[in-house]
Amino acid sequence: DETDQELLEGEWSDEEAEAEPVLPVLAIIGRPNVGKSTLVNRILGRREAVVEDKPGVTRDRVSYPAEWAGHRFLLVDTGGWEVDVAGIESKVAEQAEVAISLADAVVFVVDAAVGATATDERVVELLRRSGKPVVLAANKVDGASGEADAAYLWSLGLGEPYPVSALHGRGTGDLLDAAVEALPEESAHGAQRPSGPRRVALVGRPNVGKSSLLNKIAGSERVVVDDVAGTTRDPVDELIELRGVPYWFVDTAGIRRRVHQTRGADFYASLRTAAAIEKAEVGVVLVDASNPLTEQDIRVIQQVVDAGRALVIAYNKWDLMDEDRRPYLEREIEKELVQIQWAPRVNLSARTGWHAERLVPAIERSLASWDRRVPTGKLNGFLGELVAAHPHPLRGGKQPRILFATQASTRPPRFVIFATGFLEAGYRRFIERRLRETFGFEGTPIEISVRVRE
Ligand code: GDP
Ligand code: GDP
Repeated sequence: DETDQELLEGEWSDEEAEAEPVLPVLAIIGRPNVGKSTLVNRILGRREAVVEDKPGVTRDRVSYPAEWAGHRFLLVDTGGWEVDVAGIESKVAEQAEVAISLADAVVFVVDAAVGATATDERVVELLRRSGKPVVLAANKVDGASGEADAAYLWSLGLGEPYPVSALHGRGTGDLLDAAVEALPEESAHGAQRPSGPRRVALVGRPNVGKSSLLNKIAGSERVVVDDVAGTTRDPVDELIELRGVPYWFVDTAGIRRRVHQTRGADFYASLRTAAAIEKAEVGVVLVDASNPLTEQDIRVIQQVVDAGRALVIAYNKWDLMDEDRRPYLEREIEKELVQIQWAPRVNLSARTGWHAERLVPAIERSLASWDRRVPTGKLNGFLGELVAAHPHPLRGGKQPRILFATQASTRPPRFVIFATGFLEAGYRRFIERRLRETFGFEGTPIEISVRVRE
């Protein structure tokens, strides 16, 4: 196809690849049963429920690509987020807060037939504080007679209520026109944002020491936001200066506020983690080194890798480490994290501050790799030598030949290899390993895709 051709002819310049936009994010929020999922399905043009109830699989998916009137954006669907009916009010607020923090603009859905409830008022308060653009959807206005109900919602103070029927499609076009109008061209907190302080997500399962570490490294180093030019502020993020360099620590509000142990708290913790990673350029995953690595630790690390973000793994509570535990830890790392040996490792103690200063150099190394571009000439020189010394194994008398390769993008580095046949997974891993050794991609996932040419 055309993209392949452009790549082959080298017309896809570095600048163009860098300029690839980050899609703006639109979140659909509101109380249960107001029609959020119905609206999302209408926008995405599909019938089935969006979020399947497969634990650990679909529920971490927070956004879906969508398009309206030529505008592309990511749609955050909170319709499947409800877990429990008890204490619904605080849950709605918490869910709304997570969704708002992810979004560049919000569609707030209210059931026009019911009118504004106390829970709706609370969400309005959160929306006001966020300062993000809001479009108010007065849903379940299935016919002209319902429009008077919609008009009552002016009282929420969010501007014009758009009367819609998510079910039948009535009025949804006007609503979407207003929503894409409210979205910026590019996301304020995309992974490829070219300037401003780098964005760090400090993540890990509960009690590994995130808030302790945050307090330790932030200390008195809080920065006044106006001091840093060209930054868009999200109230849940915090600007912290480390060794004289400011960094955004995303969603620190979620770290500082101890999550109340209600049913479903894990669920929101996992959503917050996904949201924070998505907003960040680098994920610092904290684990408790004094205890065995858990499945949840591995899962958070994998989330950072899958999101294509730079990675640092910090082994905390080193002050509790005794000599008996050491070999066990090393064996766990070797066993569980063998695929992620490229991630820098920092042993530290958030309590005593021991080695905390090693975090910044590790973050910087990972980000530098994440940004790195291998010039096409150099890449093909490297591959030529590699393939000459270690050709792809023969299979059934056939042997795919590598024709050409290019790095299609950075953040994370993505490589495209054109070959005469499919390259085996083992061979691709071999190429990845050598790429890392040769060009030093410490701390970043890299992607290699193969396009087959005759
Ligand atoms: P959510 O919990 O906010 O995601 O709400 P759902 O999308 O699951 O909708 C809740 C119920 O309201 C379902 O029975 C929908 O069929 C119904 N519903 C959604 N939108 C409309 C609408 O525009 N008109 C009417 N009459 N019912 C709707
Ligand atoms: P979070 O849930 O990840 O934010 O974890 P916290 O920062 O709240 O820490 C959980 C518990 O571990 C608290 O009792 C901390 O005092 C303790 N803790 C955190 N870091 C360390 C550390 O480096 N060493 C020791 N001994 N305890 C720690």
